[in-house]
Amino acid sequence: MQVSEKELNQEFDKNLKGFDSKNPPKQELIDSCVHCGFCLSTCPSYRVIGKEMDSPRGRIYLMDAISKGEAALTAATTQHFDSCLGCLACVTTCPSGVQYDKLITATRPQVERNQPRNLGDKLIRTLIFNLFPYPNRLRPLLYPLWLYQKSGLQQLTRATGLLKLFPRLGAMESILPQINLNALQEQLPDIIPAQGEKRYRVGVILGCVQRLFFSPVNEATVRVLTANGCEVVIPKSQGCCAALPAHQGQENQAQTLAKQMIDSFAGIDLDAIIINAAGCGHTLKEYGHILEDDPEYGEKAKEFSGKVKDVQEFLVAVGLTAKLSPLTGGELTLVYQDACHLLHGQKISLQPRQLLRKIPGVKLKEPVDAALCCGSAGVYNMLQPAVADELGQQKVENLLNTGAELIASANPGCSLQIKKHLELQGKQITLMHPMELLDYSIRGIQVKV
Ligand code: SF4
Ligand code: SF4
Repeated sequence: MQVSEKELNQEFDKNLKGFDSKNPPKQELIDSCVHCGFCLSTCPSYRVIGKEMDSPRGRIYLMDAISKGEAALTAATTQHFDSCLGCLACVTTCPSGVQYDKLITATRPQVERNQPRNLGDKLIRTLIFNLFPYPNRLRPLLYPLWLYQKSGLQQLTRATGLLKLFPRLGAMESILPQINLNALQEQLPDIIPAQGEKRYRVGVILGCVQRLFFSPVNEATVRVLTANGCEVVIPKSQGCCAALPAHQGQENQAQTLAKQMIDSFAGIDLDAIIINAAGCGHTLKEYGHILEDDPEYGEKAKEFSGKVKDVQEFLVAVGLTAKLSPLTGGELTLVYQDACHLLHGQKISLQPRQLLRKIPGVKLKEPVDAALCCGSAGVYNMLQPAVADELGQQKVENLLNTGAELIASANPGCSLQIKKHLELQGKQITLMHPMELLDYSIRGIQVKV
């Protein structure tokens, strides 16, 4: 079904704004869509909302209409761009090679600049973008959050359903992981030597959410790298990779954070810069685009991005040298959950599976709809909780239906989303990052399933 003239006219108001002249979506990219509709069935927002305007094709129609002055940027049109998870499944599916990623990346800053948000939206976005990309602001909150959980207040708040009155705040609270106060101390040294013969020298990016809420994943990543002959360098001046603001069209903030990240690795001789979080990895590889118009950082950004490797991509490329042991007394059935920004954004799907299959006794299962987003999508599950919940529930059902004893997930956002929906469905199943599984296997530690 195509977008009707009537639908577009409903969105049109000559007094309202269209795209401004600063990098609007390129007309040749818009025109490359032949409107075949192949992408619709793989689009999670279309699957849940069921409207053409919330599909890739519908959004491209809308971009075209706004570019040509036939529709305006209004609250009504903006909601269709906001409903996009940015999962990039449509880019993988499109037989015509439409670069929807570039189109939506150009559209989001236009929305942020030209369409005022309502008060509720403004408040939640201000909170998210002033908090999450700054580990130094997040860190002091760990202690009160720990108290909130330990004192029973969290249980009480959830039992009373108080936060249902504020759905987005409630969505934020619902994915709060178990706080571990050990993350308050910076534990990883600046340089960690390789075990045995040094094969490579690599930098490691700690992430914001990852370093504070998933610090064992970073520690496991470093141990796996060093066990496989890598000297690891961790510049402590590094901040956020800019993924959260970049995915939401906060252009200036994303550029500032990307420059800071480049500066923190400047002058360090490295074979690769390693990241273990899917969403961050995708953005780090996009620095060349994020800073393409910057005369000082344009070239540096391309050079930096050229060195970025997802840890699984890197380990498969260089080969494992550490000996691996079984994770249980017998066979371990596990299911790997594809993160969209690895699968669609970086085309990395084989490498995590190859690594996991190397662990003796591991039997890998594949879920139905493996390529469909779990609904996390950066901060999407906080901004669009209803759609995200539907996707989270479907994802967890599909993972559980494999009968696997353990879920492997390589993105902190996906892990939080999946844990939330496992809990809502009353299921207890261990969820670990592939690096934690490899680390256990190298150290001969058994997993609890
Ligand atoms: S984006 Fe690609 S798959 Fe989707 S309608 Fe356009 S050409 Fe077809
Ligand atoms: S990025 Fe994902 S949610 Fe957005 S249009 Fe493409 S498939 Fe749909």
